[in-house]
Amino acid sequence: MKLIRLAFFISHLSLLPIAHADVASRITEALIANTSAQSFLEWQQSGHTPNDIFRITRQIDSATGWTELCTELSKLSGENLALFEDEINDRATARKLGACHSRLVAKLTRYWAASAGELAADEDGAGDDAPAQPAAITLPSEERVVDTSSGPVISDGGLKAGEIALTFDDGPHPTRTERILKILKEAGVRATFFEVGEMAKHYSTLPRIVLNDGHTVGSHSWNHPQLPQLDFASAQKNIVKGHEAVIAATGIESSFFRFPYGARNKALQKFVSGLGMATFFWNMDSSDWKLRNPAQLFQNVLQELSNAKGGIILFHDIQEQTVVVLPSVLRELKKRNFKTIVFVPKARTPRP
Ligand SMILES: [Zn+2]
Repeated sequence: MKLIRLAFFISHLSLLPIAHADVASRITEALIANTSAQSFLEWQQSGHTPNDIFRITRQIDSATGWTELCTELSKLSGENLALFEDEINDRATARKLGACHSRLVAKLTRYWAASAGELAADEDGAGDDAPAQPAAITLPSEERVVDTSSGPVISDGGLKAGEIALTFDDGPHPTRTERILKILKEAGVRATFFEVGEMAKHYSTLPRIVLNDGHTVGSHSWNHPQLPQLDFASAQKNIVKGHEAVIAATGIESSFFRFPYGARNKALQKFVSGLGMATFFWNMDSSDWKLRNPAQLFQNVLQELSNAKGGIILFHDIQEQTVVVLPSVLRELKKRNFKTIVFVPKARTPRP
């Protein structure tokens, strides 16, 4: 027993200086991994996500470790710091960071305010004379009914040029989802939200708020794994558990589904279709998991719109930059005479 303790003590001792010295490089690695990742999945599996970085500091949990982390984070630009925002805002982390937490939050607040200003100035044709408060707009919104009984697989929704379906994945988020709802409501736009079961259960009042605003709510697995990497039975369970959690939160039978990362195999697709659910993909990707600068995100959305002309666009309602960019995207859609489409399942059965 003593030997085990001693071994643990020695390994812990040797871990401390290495881990501390490495904070700066681990933060740099996270930024590089995010920028170089070609897909959300590649980024999540890089081993350099903010969660990976913070986990090491949490495990060691020394005052020096937290101070060092804060020092290194404080050196980042607002845009780079934004990559770590969710970890910084985690309640337990906030306590550990102490006074440093408020300084980081203040820097992020300044970044989002400045980037929103930059975005407004960048909007096509607005130039430097852009009004501080652009006029409110409304967009045409039309329902497209989907018969899910045959388990259809939908990638661009058969939408024509000039038709766009907005989709938001990975929520509900405790602060961002409702801000997105407010922006959509003001423009009279309805969308589809693919919610993660674990989030729907944790923030259990939000799914019904989304639904009551006229949006469609589908499911997106229980906890967002790469399903084809799980054994088949676990993957099936993960899909069903996520689906049931979303139904429990909305009170409505949901028959829309999206694979996390769009990752599937034939057997899983057959399973989902066999449940009588429509599987949704997308043909336009905002890349909002990666582009933290709203002006760049906006440019990417414009590019996707120009390339595809219409179809289903993927956003994430858990990203701050998505909240910031959405009003500009809606104004652009208006300018381009787009019609927004909301997919609704043929039958929506209330669950007791
Ligand atoms: Zn997702």
